[in-house]
Amino acid sequence: MPLSEFNLIDLFFRGLAPGRADVALGVGDDCALLQVPERRQLAVTIDTLVEGVHFEADADPVSVGHKSLAVNLSDLAAMGAEPAWVTLALTLPRPDEAWLAGFAQGFGALAADHGVALVGGDTTRGPLSITVQAHGFVEPGRALRRSGARPGDLVYVTGTLGDAGLALLVRQGFYTAPEHLSFLHQRLDRPVPRVEAGRMLQGLASAGIDLSDGLSSDLGHVLAASGCGATLHLSELPLSAAVREYVGDTGDWSPSLSAGDDYELCVTVPADRQGEAEALATEFDCGLTWIGIIEKAPGLRCVMPDGTIADATGGYDHFAGSQ
Ligand code: ADP
Ligand code: MG
Repeated sequence: MPLSEFNLIDLFFRGLAPGRADVALGVGDDCALLQVPERRQLAVTIDTLVEGVHFEADADPVSVGHKSLAVNLSDLAAMGAEPAWVTLALTLPRPDEAWLAGFAQGFGALAADHGVALVGGDTTRGPLSITVQAHGFVEPGRALRRSGARPGDLVYVTGTLGDAGLALLVRQGFYTAPEHLSFLHQRLDRPVPRVEAGRMLQGLASAGIDLSDGLSSDLGHVLAASGCGATLHLSELPLSAAVREYVGDTGDWSPSLSAGDDYELCVTVPADRQGEAEALATEFDCGLTWIGIIEKAPGLRCVMPDGTIADATGGYDHFAGSQ
């Protein structure tokens, strides 16, 4: 018997709702009814993944489920928000039970990790596309906005940069040592939203963003919103062993500078709070690494490993192959 929209929702999605006291009514009615805690603002974000654009037709559905939620939790993390609820709009070419089971498994496992409840959605027929809207809580005035960076602030990033970009090159046929393969694929397919780091940086960071489009472009958004410039020190960028080897072999910094999909956080911290930031960093699994400084002069500059300074305003693609 083919799955109807209703038993599909019951089978795969009604269960993805841990008992949160703030969900008065979840999946099953015309609307969900949700209670925002007193003296909190609701942070809301939405992202769509489209087959053939954001993932391949043969992508593992568990990974697609994970990533469709992870990219949204990453946006909440970038504001320092505490994730609470999500809604899910699914457009499916056909009700494929095996695909749906895998998708629900990946989505549900990450939702459970963060205590997030799926409270509703929409299911339609058409080319495969997944839209997730995530809701979280922030204390008024404490969200990490893009506009808060000031000259003299220090620039930090979580995790390592360029793994997802290198994974993409590997999928297109670029050779990398076999011992790096599973790490790189994991970094591209199962990004870890830095929710705890974002929350702990509230009240300390002056600005924050998550790295979905690449460091140059995303830091560029912070600089534009803050009316500042910055200088980055390439030799300080946190690199995995796989990316370090790649840069050593090719001289190409573009996976770490301009490739997207790492979903690390980039934050700015006032210089007089450097000690606090670095003490906090010891509590993060993912680490927090200083990479540069905010300056009054607009634009983005890069101190190359040989000490020369390159103008990186408008992207880094022209650094491919330089060292
Ligand atoms: P309506 O026609 O009133 O919009 P639907 O038939 O679209 O209702 O959905 C019925 C219920 O199932 C609603 O509570 C809706 O939020 C929920 N729902 C539909 N699709 C999904 C989905 N993919 N994931 C989670 N909940 C869903
Ligand atoms: Mg509907």
